[in-house]
Amino acid sequence: MILKPYAADPVKTLGRQYIESKSNSRNDFQRDRDRIIHSSAFRRLEYKTQVFVNHEGDMFRTRLTHSIEVSQISRGISRTLGCHEDLAETIALAHDLGHTPFGHAGQDALNNCMKVFGGFEHNLQSLRVVDFLERRYASFEGLNLTFESREGILKHCSINNARTLGLIGERFIQKQQPSLEAQIVNIADEIAYNNHDVDDGFRSGLLDFKALMQNALFGRCAKEVDDTYCNINDSQKINEVVRRMIHLLIEDVCTHSQKNLDFYQPKTIEDVRTSPHLIDFSAGIKKEQHELKQFLRHAMYEHPHVVKMTQDAGKVIKKLFTSYIKEPKGIPENFSMDSSDSRQRIVADYIAGMTDRFAIEAASRL
Ligand code: MG
Repeated sequence: MILKPYAADPVKTLGRQYIESKSNSRNDFQRDRDRIIHSSAFRRLEYKTQVFVNHEGDMFRTRLTHSIEVSQISRGISRTLGCHEDLAETIALAHDLGHTPFGHAGQDALNNCMKVFGGFEHNLQSLRVVDFLERRYASFEGLNLTFESREGILKHCSINNARTLGLIGERFIQKQQPSLEAQIVNIADEIAYNNHDVDDGFRSGLLDFKALMQNALFGRCAKEVDDTYCNINDSQKINEVVRRMIHLLIEDVCTHSQKNLDFYQPKTIEDVRTSPHLIDFSAGIKKEQHELKQFLRHAMYEHPHVVKMTQDAGKVIKKLFTSYIKEPKGIPENFSMDSSDSRQRIVADYIAGMTDRFAIEAASRL
């Protein structure tokens, strides 16, 4: 790994909340990554929805496979740009830890339930998981990750919440950027979900070639596939198109971001934080990628089949929330140990940590 001076450096980390002795064999970002992989929240991602509810079928993406894809893309871009691959990997593997069951539908429903109790934001929840909710160490709550990992995990945050977070919230108030590694994970997240949603959407029957061909990016890659192969089936063709799109988007990010880096010449991670956003697509690709996102929103996420799942999911979350507020006995005793949080926050933490199927079973038991 050849690091550029603007890369995050584990030796110069802003540190952990609780001081720990260093490891001889792993740098601090690798240790963060390993803590995430061994966490229970990470294992539960296997049974959490991306778009389709977990029991809809075994061949669709889950939050776990999504996170692994984001990590693969992030590491590749990091390596090309001379950024710290270990930090990018850590942030990617942790970026969705705070997601509720049932994807965005679950998050919206839980946010609604929490409206007058401080709301619910999945990014903030991811930070809460690694800072407090994982209880694996005798000496501290949470995983005691480095500042750089935590900074990357907190992708968005409202100003009101940022004010309660100390140093980690400062950048939202100062309107500064996170590390390049964090910026890389954000864009890798977008590349991953747009492409796997095309793939899952196609295989589920919600999308077809005719509709997809309306998108310039998809159309260009599909034409290249058609020009190269004359006798392939639809499933081979979608794979060939998707892999071309992923490749094209990654190449574009690397080229365009390198131009930004050459222009702004950040010398340190501190320069990165005060520079404009540096990791990005070129203008043309950004437009096409945005159109693809809009197309997917309409054709997939607003598809009656997905909307029905979404509404059902919302009902499950609401039922769980109302029942646990009324009767908190349903929550395991050791869950809210030593917590000074409100009952609503404890209930929200408990529900957010559930997998899709656990939530469905719990709701049907109530
Ligand atoms: Mg994601």
